[in-house]
Amino acid sequence: MAAYPTEINHLKARSLVRITWADGHVGEYAEPYLRGYCPCAMCQGHGSQIHFLDIPDARLHEIRGVGNYAIEFRWHDGHSTGIYTFDYLRSLCPCAGCLAARGDEK
Ligand SMILES: [Zn+2]
Ligand SMILES: [Zn+2]
Repeated sequence: MAAYPTEINHLKARSLVRITWADGHVGEYAEPYLRGYCPCAMCQGHGSQIHFLDIPDARLHEIRGVGNYAIEFRWHDGHSTGIYTFDYLRSLCPCAGCLAARGDEK
């Protein structure tokens, strides 16, 4: 089943984005976490491995839908070339359950 969000909230006071998925799953993504995983070529280069860019003061300015498959985040520094597909966002879900399922350290 493809990941699909039913609700995307930018909680500015907490500097995070809360995504509610169609299956009821909820993920809360800190702004620097999302910025660090920006999937654009400028941030990721040409390697096949996704890496994390450490930008602790990253602030989200605006969220825009891209078609019905992705979201574009516009950052306070003007960076906005990252297109985050729903599948990608779901794969980044930082909740304890997903972290355990992925078995990674992030
Ligand atoms: Zn980027
Ligand atoms: Zn999760």
